[in-house]
Amino acid sequence: MQIKALKFGGSSLADAEQFKKVANIVKAEDSRRYVVVSAPGKRFDGDTKITDMLYEAYAIAEAGDDMSDVFAKIRGRFESIITGLGLDLDLSRDFDKISSAFYHHPGRDYAASRGEYLNGKIFAAYIGYDFIEPAKYIFFKEDGTFDSERTNDVLSAVLSEHEHAVLPGFYGSMPNGTIKTFSRGGSDITGSIVARAAKADLYENWTDVSGFLMADPRVVQNPRPIDEITYRELRELSYMGAGVLHEDAIFPVRAAGIPINIRNTNRPEDRGTMIVPRSDYYNYETIITGIAGKKGLSVINIEKDMMNSEIGFGRKVLEVLEDHGISFEHLPSGIDTMGVVVSNSEIADKSELIIKDITKSVHPDHISIEDGLALIAVVGRGMISAKGTAGRVFRAAAAKGVNIRMIDQGSSEINIIIGVDESDYVRAIEAIYEEFVK
Ligand code: ASP
Repeated sequence: MQIKALKFGGSSLADAEQFKKVANIVKAEDSRRYVVVSAPGKRFDGDTKITDMLYEAYAIAEAGDDMSDVFAKIRGRFESIITGLGLDLDLSRDFDKISSAFYHHPGRDYAASRGEYLNGKIFAAYIGYDFIEPAKYIFFKEDGTFDSERTNDVLSAVLSEHEHAVLPGFYGSMPNGTIKTFSRGGSDITGSIVARAAKADLYENWTDVSGFLMADPRVVQNPRPIDEITYRELRELSYMGAGVLHEDAIFPVRAAGIPINIRNTNRPEDRGTMIVPRSDYYNYETIITGIAGKKGLSVINIEKDMMNSEIGFGRKVLEVLEDHGISFEHLPSGIDTMGVVVSNSEIADKSELIIKDITKSVHPDHISIEDGLALIAVVGRGMISAKGTAGRVFRAAAAKGVNIRMIDQGSSEINIIIGVDESDYVRAIEAIYEEFVK
């Protein structure tokens, strides 16, 4: 029989009504055996997530002040879920333990993780599945990075002993036993880890949208949904995935060849987006899979005659950035020119120093930093076999009066990246979308 691992996000479990929808989804298929839950999220615009309330309560307790008001609100939200579900479950001991622990400074991560912990307990009781404590089976290393192999070994063994289980997302433990969380949105990562350890056939990630759209709906009106996308394409479109799926959630399942299906808890009839290891199918109609973009970038332009024959030139330039702790987004280059695209926020007050250090290191003929750049990635596995895609991108942009400042095609030939002025950002995306999709 198939095995599915599921993850439900905070808005899917924000109140008792949402819990009921989630239970119906889980019960609808026998294969839905392992369920990872987030903490209760926002019930409406302007509402506060439990995780944020926990951070707030902890900050108050850490400062030595009285956090009982905030804590009472947190407790109230969980209790209203329990009552709304008509559950006979008393979590008073947990609440007492957590609130007294806060005054002994167990760490911010411990505090934040309690949202998932408590929600996991409630959901396990409601659906009648076993509760598995992730601190015992999800491990971080001494340096704070996730210990994937140890976790996979230990977690696989424990999952095989449970026919069905609920696991809180977002956290695990350090070698000394203290609780550590992933970065925000990290329950997606737990879901992926569980899917891999369970040797699942599918990882269903249930959220409040019906998958990915071909373009940002704030830029393009009613963009088409994406039915199927490869892991690789998704990485190329990672600016777009933000907010739907945590970037790091891809890796555990990708390594195991398990697809991810992004689904909508509020519209379970929608098929959502399937993220697959590889695909022979592509959308012949559109050729491209998606368009994503990012503003707020700068480019460091470096020119020097015979640059390409100077061994170590690129390394020296990048070393300067490394020394300043700056990561780069792209490296568009020509024979005697090299561009380094970095985000404005990283380079902000260091630009003069960087120019000085690069000048000292490689003695360029010219160096300048220009800001106000936006990057747009046009991605599609169909591009490899469809000739003239780049030409269509450029023509479409030019026809709308967009000046292309930079071009970069990845060696995988599944993406074309163009750099435009921030002021042309929306127009360029609209033009490309219209060219390929409308
Ligand atoms: N509750 C955590 C957060 O708000 C983790 C998650 O929801 O995935 O970031």
